[in-house]
Amino acid sequence: MSDTTPNDTPPDSHADCIFCKIARGEMNADIVLENDDVVVFRDINPQAPTHLLVIPRKHIPSLEDAADEDGELLGKVYLAARDAARKEGIAHEGYRTVLNTGANGGQVVFHLHVHLLGGRAMGWPPG
Ligand code: AMP
Repeated sequence: MSDTTPNDTPPDSHADCIFCKIARGEMNADIVLENDDVVVFRDINPQAPTHLLVIPRKHIPSLEDAADEDGELLGKVYLAARDAARKEGIAHEGYRTVLNTGANGGQVVFHLHVHLLGGRAMGWPPG
């Protein structure tokens, strides 16, 4: 039995997931940086002057679905957020990272992603 779906989608990627499509280069996105494990791109509906999304290439639906073995990958996601903040020139003034999980967390796209927001002062508590 093949370990890929019929259209040769890699085993850690989902054919119909929009963020997997961006990671595979099959859907347009304004990519800020990428490496073997992580892709960072601009949110299409920005909530701050800088609003990036940081995703693992591996399809993990949400933090609740992450396995213990994903720990190193999740660390790479946050280090990519740090690098993207530096690249965008918002690191010195500070920024916010947000990881929405599930319905109450406000998650809409079920491919784990960290929002990186900066370029303005953030309020607290969040809505
Ligand atoms: P969340 O509510 O945490 O699931 O956030 C999903 C985010 O993905 C939202 O901020 C959307 O604006 C963003 N988004 C959805 N589709 C795309 C896309 N094709 N390219 C970039 N950002 C997207």
